[in-house]
Amino acid sequence: MNIDFTKMNGLVPAIVQDALSGKVLMQGYMNEEALAKTKETGMVTFFSRSKDRLWTKGETSGNFMEVVSIAVDCDGDSILVKANPRGPVCHTGSDTCWDEENTSKTGFIDQLRSIIKDRKNNPSDKSYTASLFAKGINKVAQKVGEEAVEIVIEAKDDNKELFLGEAADLLFHYLVLLEAKGYELDEVMDVLIQRHQKK
Ligand SMILES: [Zn+2]
Repeated sequence: MNIDFTKMNGLVPAIVQDALSGKVLMQGYMNEEALAKTKETGMVTFFSRSKDRLWTKGETSGNFMEVVSIAVDCDGDSILVKANPRGPVCHTGSDTCWDEENTSKTGFIDQLRSIIKDRKNNPSDKSYTASLFAKGINKVAQKVGEEAVEIVIEAKDDNKELFLGEAADLLFHYLVLLEAKGYELDEVMDVLIQRHQKK
């Protein structure tokens, strides 16, 4: 990680993005010490120019931002931190410092997809997903069919918990089937986007 701290007198801007939703949460500045502390503690820590000291986000509110990954931009003078916020980010109580809502969790689908891919490429005995891949495409496809029937059954009932459980099962096994076939979810999105554009 090569960061040029000299360009701006020891500070570089650090942009914090929600690891799940992709929303930009806040922006602050880090010096070398702040970056080191961020890496060491796993909690986003800035150098606060107004406080003139290191400032770990959440140190008073408890709304820490847990670090998922840290990257440096193309010319080494800007840091991108992907993080999981434990609560509202801004001191105003807003989800982001730009007064935006940050409620979407659909970015987790991408994390789930990479876990599924990993289970396929590095199978372990304990993994249910790996056992599905081991049984072959027919079994995976059959599972999707079973889960589809189960969600149909729950759709006719009025139990939210059971319905959401089946909806999760169907989505999960659908993603496993795509991976088993060697296709990306983006290829499905391409089909949907094309259909949408035709109208
Ligand atoms: Zn703010």
